Amino acid sequence: MNNLNYYLEQARLSRTALGHFNFATADVLRGIVEASKDAGATAVMVGTSEGEAGFVGLKEAVALVKALREELNFPVFLNADHFKSFEKCREAIDAGYDSVIIDPVVEISNTFGKDKSKSHYGAGAPGFMEKVVITKKVVDYARSVSSYILVEGELGYLKGSSQIQTKIEITPADFTKPKEAKEFVEKTGVNQLAVVFGNIHGIVTEQEEKLDIEHFKKIITAMPDVFYVLHGASGLKDEDVAASIKAGITNVHFNTELRVAYRNAIDKVFHEKPNETTPYKYLGPAVEEVKKLVTQKIHVFMGK
Ligand SMILES: [Zn+2]
Repeated sequence: MNNLNYYLEQARLSRTALGHFNFATADVLRGIVEASKDAGATAVMVGTSEGEAGFVGLKEAVALVKALREELNFPVFLNADHFKSFEKCREAIDAGYDSVIIDPVVEISNTFGKDKSKSHYGAGAPGFMEKVVITKKVVDYARSVSSYILVEGELGYLKGSSQIQTKIEITPADFTKPKEAKEFVEKTGVNQLAVVFGNIHGIVTEQEEKLDIEHFKKIITAMPDVFYVLHGASGLKDEDVAASIKAGITNVHFNTELRVAYRNAIDKVFHEKPNETTPYKYLGPAVEEVKKLVTQKIHVFMGK
């Protein structure tokens, strides 16, 4: 089986994209992989956030992915999704993850130094150079372990969270700047870069999400030598996602809608059968909903 870099390169050549889907339980993971294979994907990336990884267990996630790769004879790659520190990324790499996304957060103390909160942005957020230093450290560590482990960095203000939100304000000032993208990739050596050109995390209900493809083209022109990742595809129109893939996105993150479908299907079962206690009978239908969505998205990512 080839490595992740190979499949991303193939995606770039064929103007398609690999899907990236998150999981926190083994049933959802299996559903994602089965649906991806059946829908004709060349490979799939599955991810755990720090929270999801804490729930599944890092080593357990690695073992589950390895088992599915062998059982289904299909290339599945495990990604540490938005890990917040060098230490967390190192833990994932040591556990056997195939790739990591370093999304550094700094701790801010209030005036009295008591309450510590964490921030990606605004006052106290890591500046450009601070981000470069942390990201480079992760890249160096990954390389020291294996040249097959890919590292993704992130530039631009990627707002929102993996939930249903009403409104998120986004302006071109939040977009990834082409010049910075070039400098960031050159200084850090990341394999993949998450960029912002109108995308946000999660779903917004009271506004339309719209990508600025022309802006993305400027980024790619400034720095063609990295794989580009679109985060926050939930809530975007399929045409927008397809256009971004045509323009050069090779990896699309899709998460919130899967969570919503899974959760709603479980609600439905318990509504209809309040006494159901057999896990596979109430989780099974939820996984089927996840599979339907993954199938539909893979078709978009493959340009079908
Ligand atoms: Zn993301």
